[in-house]
Amino acid sequence: MLDPQPRKREPIEGLRSVRAQGSAKEFLQHALVSGRLATALLFEGPEGVGKERCARALAQCSVCLSRLPDGDACGRCATCRAIDAEKYPDVIVLARTLDVLTQQEQSGNELKSEIVVEKIRELQRERLVYLPHGSTRWIIVRDAHELNASSSNALLKTLEEPPANTHFVLVTHRPSELLVTVRSRCQRVRFAPLPEAEVISILSANGVEPALAKEAAKWAEGSAGRAVAMSDPALLASRKGWLDRLIQALRASKPGAIVDVAEAFSKDASAREGDEVLVVLEMLERYFRDEAISAATDARRSSIHAARSQLVRQTIASLDSNLKAQMAVESMLVRLRDVR
Ligand SMILES: [Zn+2]
Repeated sequence: MLDPQPRKREPIEGLRSVRAQGSAKEFLQHALVSGRLATALLFEGPEGVGKERCARALAQCSVCLSRLPDGDACGRCATCRAIDAEKYPDVIVLARTLDVLTQQEQSGNELKSEIVVEKIRELQRERLVYLPHGSTRWIIVRDAHELNASSSNALLKTLEEPPANTHFVLVTHRPSELLVTVRSRCQRVRFAPLPEAEVISILSANGVEPALAKEAAKWAEGSAGRAVAMSDPALLASRKGWLDRLIQALRASKPGAIVDVAEAFSKDASAREGDEVLVVLEMLERYFRDEAISAATDARRSSIHAARSQLVRQTIASLDSNLKAQMAVESMLVRLRDVR
């Protein structure tokens, strides 16, 4: 039975409720307590490892009504709870909007993913004006790599002359896509992939049953966000099915096997939301990496799998959309098969 998983969310109760990320939290807590926190922070690291959660926890620390002796937020006062519930008016999240796009602005099946300049102007015009005395305002820019050139430049003006008691946290898993001028204005804080045990524990706290949590965490590359998505049994089964078929195609003697599976796979992936091709290819990369490790005593086999894992990584890096996936997957499979 594919019963939907019960979902619970762990409340944000100060920095201590952010999983792992010891050095990032330590740095932030120290900077905050010593009054040396930069106006603009850049939280960079893989998706789904707690960057935005940490930004909210940090905001809690700055406005908590009964802060703990170490500077962490209490997590229970009215402001802490309002921030956790995303109802605190001075924690503002900027993110892309899809509703402003017209048909012409969409290329192919993809929605243009940009934070448009109107969002920044609206922020400057309406949200940055009034701040109650003694309060602190936090602007969280979600997926900051989606700032386009004009919104980056508009934001830059604010970063150069920030309003009093206002902090910016730019959150991204693709820091290299930000304008250098924006990046150089920010204090960079790096977030690491979560340990697998931590991901399993997060899934359990989300109500995912243990065996599924373990399986989903295995393929999540240290990302709780991805693990939560992976813990949908039907989706996980489909992805593992494609993984198996791709691996089988490498062993098949039938000449057209690779073309057939590449076509079927990319067709199925394009019918689904998100970066389905990428997710399955990342699973394939992980598969070869595991094989290389488990074949460590056999140098030849191990190096074949390592080379395959490398090839999949290159394909992942070269893919920019599901649209050209079929050819990329096909040529990847041919090259994988030829690794000897
Ligand atoms: Zn509090």
